[in-house]
Amino acid sequence: MNVTLKETLAARGITLSPWTGLYFLQSLLINLALGYPFSLLYAVAFTCVLHLVWRAAPKVQKVVLGLYSLVAALYFPFSQAYGAPNFNTLLALHSTNVEESTEMFTIFPWYSYLVALFIFALGVIAVRRKASPVKRWGKMETLCLIFSVGTFFVQPIQNLAWGGVFKLKDTGYPAFRFVKDVIVNNNEVLDEQQRMAQFAQMKDTWTVTAVKPKYHTYVVVIGESARRDAMGAFGGHWDNTPFASSVNGYLFNDYIAASGSTQKSLGLTLNRVVDGKPQYQDNFVTLANRAGFQTWWFSNQGQIGEYDTAIASIAKRADEVQFLKSGDFEADKNTQDTALLKMTAQVFASQRTQPQLIVLHLMGSHPQACDRTHGKYDVFVQSKETSCYLYTMTQTDDLLRQLYDQLRNSGDSFSLVYFSDHGLAFKERGKEVQYLAHDDKFQQNFQVPFMVLSSDDKAHKIIKARRSANDFLGSSPNGRASKRKKLASAIVLSQNRRQGRCTSPTSSCRRWITTTWGRTCLRRRVVNPCLMALRLSGLRIDAVVGRASAAPPAKKQAKKIRHKGGFFISPK
Ligand SMILES: [Zn+2]
Repeated sequence: MNVTLKETLAARGITLSPWTGLYFLQSLLINLALGYPFSLLYAVAFTCVLHLVWRAAPKVQKVVLGLYSLVAALYFPFSQAYGAPNFNTLLALHSTNVEESTEMFTIFPWYSYLVALFIFALGVIAVRRKASPVKRWGKMETLCLIFSVGTFFVQPIQNLAWGGVFKLKDTGYPAFRFVKDVIVNNNEVLDEQQRMAQFAQMKDTWTVTAVKPKYHTYVVVIGESARRDAMGAFGGHWDNTPFASSVNGYLFNDYIAASGSTQKSLGLTLNRVVDGKPQYQDNFVTLANRAGFQTWWFSNQGQIGEYDTAIASIAKRADEVQFLKSGDFEADKNTQDTALLKMTAQVFASQRTQPQLIVLHLMGSHPQACDRTHGKYDVFVQSKETSCYLYTMTQTDDLLRQLYDQLRNSGDSFSLVYFSDHGLAFKERGKEVQYLAHDDKFQQNFQVPFMVLSSDDKAHKIIKARRSANDFLGSSPNGRASKRKKLASAIVLSQNRRQGRCTSPTSSCRRWITTTWGRTCLRRRVVNPCLMALRLSGLRIDAVVGRASAAPPAKKQAKKIRHKGGFFISPK
């Protein structure tokens, strides 16, 4: 027999066997059923693995294939709805009860179950294969071995080439990935749940010494990823924020965010900070609670997750908390910021005697911007994503207008604050695919809008003086400070002087780049700890830290402890 004929026969041994066909079909189905994108490479490689293991240890192969067929059949309906295992599906698994899960089974379409049944049936057939005498190791087997082992390294090598790390566990075999994804995400869910429990256990240390709210309702709207220069009202090139451009109130034109990412920025803005570390129990919600406010937090961001838990823990201190999303910020992608307005409408629907603090946490302009606007935009600028980004500003502006109208109609005095947690930076600049993403190397990552609209404002005012997010909580009014306010401000100032970090964000710029939206500075140090006097709103709570107390201390005592340090949100 010549070599060519032998090869052909050997090839036939694998290609023509009906078992090989069944293995290939089952490999494809397992790939799809576990929720991973269709891949011919991995289907062929897995067929090779099944073929080789059958030769070496038929019983092991039957167990492996039987198990995967069962898992794939069971998971198929889920994968069609939720994809491969991820943080949110694992979280859902942890938090669902029997009733909810039975309900879920009824929402999957009937044909999903039909395919699942088919996968299971193929598995049964494969498991019933009778062992036959093993044929000689041929060229096909060698090829199969090389191919399946080589395929194992494809993804890790690709990761390395894209600037990542080479890790064998990152192999792309769906069967392997599924197990890894379940374990990794399950551990993450457990970690985050534990982290959340830790945050919840910490007791706040505020002692409120005086409460003098100027208005009845305080609303704080926390925006997301909004650059100041993308908003017309704050000097942006496009007239995309008609409400903010004309409304009576104060617009701050030089407010600097505390960081370039949500968690870090809001961590430093909304909490008391000691040695650069946020004290999550001492945040503005626990402060308002202590001061006798009724507190509400409505959010379109994640309520648990690597990038969500810390800020969500602040939210969960409020008397009433509502999250539109059930998992992290990527869960339930279609939730809209405007849905939060239904919740505020409900709050305003009834008369409340207690002063109110309502927080809205928006998804705002978070990448991808076109996801936020459902691909809609007004003016085309450079790329679709950039255009959508500009339109997210219009959406947020319109949300603020509706909220402002709700507040006006409520009849109560109010103060509405809006600011963004950080800006974004351009990527692929000047190209058709230009987009905006998180960064911390540019001024624009920190230049965000900040505005305060109060029920008694009579004019549209632009404040040019610089304000820092670091002073959101411990702020002092500018100029007309009373004795007590001056004291608090002086304390913070002297602390900062001691730290010796009073550098201006703009003065330390070493390298400028010219962009379509003005000059961009490449710089390191951004936040100026010496910038005081953030004129927030009429909300004024004087408090000291160190002792948690529900009741305001006696007058004498209050006077004494006030000298140890003051944190308050000051009036204009
Ligand atoms: Zn953010």
